[in-house]
Amino acid sequence: MSVSTGERMKITILGARGSVPAEGEDMLEFGGATSCVLIQTGDDSVFFDAGTGIMKCPNLGNSRISLFLTHPHIDHLMGFPFFPCINEKDRIIDIYAVKSGDESAKKQFANLLSPPLWPARAEDYPADIRFHDITFPVKVGNAVITGIPSVHPGGGWVYKFECCGKSVVYATDYEYNEEKVGELIDFAFETDLLLIDAQYTEEEFEKKRGFGHSSHILALEIAKKCRAKKVRFVHHDPTHTDEFLRKMEAQVKAENTSFARRGEVIDL
Ligand SMILES: [Zn+2]
Ligand SMILES: [Zn+2]
Repeated sequence: MSVSTGERMKITILGARGSVPAEGEDMLEFGGATSCVLIQTGDDSVFFDAGTGIMKCPNLGNSRISLFLTHPHIDHLMGFPFFPCINEKDRIIDIYAVKSGDESAKKQFANLLSPPLWPARAEDYPADIRFHDITFPVKVGNAVITGIPSVHPGGGWVYKFECCGKSVVYATDYEYNEEKVGELIDFAFETDLLLIDAQYTEEEFEKKRGFGHSSHILALEIAKKCRAKKVRFVHHDPTHTDEFLRKMEAQVKAENTSFARRGEVIDL
């Protein structure tokens, strides 16, 4: 079976929670799984981050699988050992990451996928997992992926995925910074879909400057300045319940602008 979406892009929010998975009856609407976004187009299935959201990825048929890591914080990696496709023999999985200091893409995964944190290494799984250190631009099928540095402790990358004349910008784990935000606004200018970090309220942001995340109000300001056509706020704080997130959302909601919900699908 081939998952073909022709000249279109299908984006699925598999995990929009930040920092650590959250659970409870009051976390069902926005979901508790950590960062993972899937873009399907043509014969390609391209993941951004491998948080716990990747555990519930849909059937990908025999599409080509790639995964781009924004940065090696644990909430973006911890789902990988439970990614169903790594247990499929003859499955090739191409993993891309920008070198983090001296650490290659392979090493960024190996830090988690090795004892004592985990009993198995990437090479122990049946799939053929291939690691690539990124030099931009990266071509995957008909898509081109570019990136700019994020504003985040330890670094990170904002990615732009362009295909079929459309673009998606994934700016998770991004802290609003007056001096640096212009680069993001240029990079994401008139994007069709902006996924942007909005972890904190204004009060929380003031207390947590330097933690590497933005408030929903600042994220909205970025989205407006770059004239993003659709906007979804991501990296929900693990302490924020559905009710709390709906209240935050009410302050920024507009047509085509909302907080990402678990399992949400956006077609471009
Ligand atoms: Zn994170
Ligand atoms: Zn992070």
